Amino acid sequence: MSVESQDLNLCANDNRGQLQLGAGSGLVGWDEVTQGTVLTSFEGDATGIANKKAEERLYSDFNSYTASVASWRVNKPVFNRDICIDCQNCWVWCPDSSILSRDKQMLGIDYDHCKGCEVCVEVCPTNPKSLLMFNEHADLDESLAAWPEKKKKAKKSEEA
Ligand code: SF4
Ligand code: SF4
Repeated sequence: MSVESQDLNLCANDNRGQLQLGAGSGLVGWDEVTQGTVLTSFEGDATGIANKKAEERLYSDFNSYTASVASWRVNKPVFNRDICIDCQNCWVWCPDSSILSRDKQMLGIDYDHCKGCEVCVEVCPTNPKSLLMFNEHADLDESLAAWPEKKKKAKKSEEA
């Protein structure tokens, strides 16, 4: 499977995002939990869990990873593989760990946990940027077709 098709399917094909926060989960609210209660992050034995990829871990319903915040977004970042140089800037700066990267290769966005803050777009160094914000409901192909051209540097004579 190519990276391009892999990145688009990563979020859609796993079991994340099935719970909207607080909706129909049957869990008590944060202010109703009895003091001293232990909320386990993973189901069963979590030995060696740090060595597993996020999507391979068996999260418990208490773990925020099982909840989607996708509905919080108005605009979403769209990734353009053709321009990306895999610098990992977006991965480092994303405040929600929502950049999917494997072996230092940018794969795409975890749309279940991305809140649309635009930080990744801001720090992307390519020209044009490899990440741009589009309306949440924008079609991927149409977004890629609307990608801006490379900006030319102004000549010094033109700047004066
Ligand atoms: S928009 Fe914000 S939360 Fe979403 S991937 Fe970019 S930096 Fe992360
Ligand atoms: S910051 Fe831009 S160029 Fe760097 S890995 Fe992210 S999308 Fe690619």
